[in-house]
Amino acid sequence: IVMLASVKKSYGSKEVLKGIDLKIKKGEVISIIGPSGSGKTTLIRTINGMEMLNDGEIIIEGNSFLTPTPTGRPGKSYYEHIHRIGMVFQGFNLFPHKTVLANIMIAPMYHKHGNEQEIKNFALSLLHKVGLIEHAHKYPHQLSGGQQQRVAIARALAMKPDIMLFDEPTSALDPELVGEVLKVIEQLALEGMTMVIVTHEMQFAFKVSNRVVFMEEGEIKAIDKPSLLLKSRDPRLTQFLSNQQ
Ligand code: ATP
Repeated sequence: IVMLASVKKSYGSKEVLKGIDLKIKKGEVISIIGPSGSGKTTLIRTINGMEMLNDGEIIIEGNSFLTPTPTGRPGKSYYEHIHRIGMVFQGFNLFPHKTVLANIMIAPMYHKHGNEQEIKNFALSLLHKVGLIEHAHKYPHQLSGGQQQRVAIARALAMKPDIMLFDEPTSALDPELVGEVLKVIEQLALEGMTMVIVTHEMQFAFKVSNRVVFMEEGEIKAIDKPSLLLKSRDPRLTQFLSNQQ
């Protein structure tokens, strides 16, 4: 449903993405791994237009979604499609002065996805799904990092996205809280949600993904099914993976 064609991105003279081609199919889970600074975060931020492209194109369901524009701002088609992409960040970015439930309801209320009761019911069902129904009326600071991240996932799901993007969703968490967040993401994978996940959690990436992308220096150096990627003899990939254990 999403296709990246020769996507390039530079910061000043530094080329961070050097022509990325990637096709994300419906229901597919793709993890992006690679050394620090290889462009993983930039890639995922580019997919949802938080970073503009310098060259190339992003196409969603056959429609051009993002192309470089003279103004450096997204074009019209971007605003038509962006609400179909859910994003979860490393830091949870919840609104601190709104309750958990209110955080989840903001976007669908704004975009008039239904009446207030319908949106509230759906938000509550999402809280149930991420195991936080009893925390609906608390504020973010009353929750652990892992719980806040699960709220952030529910908030992204509230817009009924076609695809979910995760940018290192567990990197900011204490180790003992990582598992509960990964479990929610794994459940979404089982339900057939299309997802792209930037992660340093190798075991998780190889377990839940249909394909794993290995990035290095702004390029996709390898992309394959987990079992095949693990058999790869690419020396940089082998070295990277052995350093992760
Ligand atoms: P990590 O695993 O450490 O998060 P990454 O693979 O996600 O790394 P990116 O965050 O995408 O890598 O960064 C790729 C390169 O782009 C890095 O060299 C980084 O310093 C540079 N970079 C990222 N964002 C900016 C920015 N806003 N301005 C200038 N340079 C940037």
